[in-house]
Amino acid sequence: MAALRVLTVPDPILKNKSVKIPEVDRSISKLVKDMIETMQVEGGVGLAAPQIGKNIRLIVLQMPDEEPFAMINPEIIKREGEREIMEACLSIPGYEGLVKRSITVTAKGINESGKQMRIKASGLLAQALEHEIDHLDGILYTDRIEDEDKLFETSYTSEQVTARGQLEPQ
Ligand SMILES: [Zn+2]
Repeated sequence: MAALRVLTVPDPILKNKSVKIPEVDRSISKLVKDMIETMQVEGGVGLAAPQIGKNIRLIVLQMPDEEPFAMINPEIIKREGEREIMEACLSIPGYEGLVKRSITVTAKGINESGKQMRIKASGLLAQALEHEIDHLDGILYTDRIEDEDKLFETSYTSEQVTARGQLEPQ
């Protein structure tokens, strides 16, 4: 296993629509392991393949105190309710923002063994599913913030001034 480098804005790979994975083979299993390690090293609750440079429909998730898992070709098939919550992204260091998300979502996809899976989620998992599946369509949480007042700088290094420039219209 190896931790991979996480791409940050304005890398164009983050804005591409990713393609479906035709078959769950060994290269996908290896990538899943590497993405899980990367997510754990970086301290995220989720990671999408475009963030490590691959425009394929694969995400990994790990809720606090739970086992990590992968979803291949994930799709949200039902959304219920609406809430506004704070969100951040490993690909947008130094920022967090208030985003409108669903209260519960139902998602389907394929697991690492190639079996169909379906999850009904609320709370952090629902948010993470919407965030990570958005990545597969080239959508970042900042694209969902209509009002600049809802994007906040977090206490990182002074390099964030540069990062802010990179966040301007893409
Ligand atoms: Zn993200």
